[in-house]
Amino acid sequence: MILLILHDRRSLANVASIKGAIEECYGHYGLMVQESGYLYVPLEGQKLNAALLLKYLGREFSTKRVLWLVDRELLYPKIGPVVGCTSDKAALLYAGIEPEVLIKEALHEVGHLMGLDHCLQDCVMQLSRTEKNAWEKPSRLCPTCTTRLNQRAQLRSGSP
Ligand SMILES: [Zn+2]
Ligand SMILES: [Zn+2]
Repeated sequence: MILLILHDRRSLANVASIKGAIEECYGHYGLMVQESGYLYVPLEGQKLNAALLLKYLGREFSTKRVLWLVDRELLYPKIGPVVGCTSDKAALLYAGIEPEVLIKEALHEVGHLMGLDHCLQDCVMQLSRTEKNAWEKPSRLCPTCTTRLNQRAQLRSGSP
């Protein structure tokens, strides 16, 4: 499975560290990460409409998995401000947060792209409702999520 990382005008600085962390966490489940450069944010405004941007990513990269770093706050309709969000193949992440938390949230969103749901254990797949949650959760997967990823990787390699 290939994951493309894209960035907007001001998020390039975060790409290398995020790519490294994703490879370390998910590489042995068959995920390959490619830096895919700059993608222009097509929508104007202070906050970005996350739902529209996910749809846009889905259209532009219909066969690939994509993580797009943007440097403006994301607003998800009917939910409010979010740091990150995913559709089944695409993820968006607001890169303007603390680097340590940004890495965790990147691992979290890519976990969704790998097929993981939210997790109640001591795990990066915990849903962070507050910034405090995000600081406190670990930057690794729990044994349950690890097992789930191994099973999915085996299923993929077993199918023609
Ligand atoms: Zn989540
Ligand atoms: Zn977990």
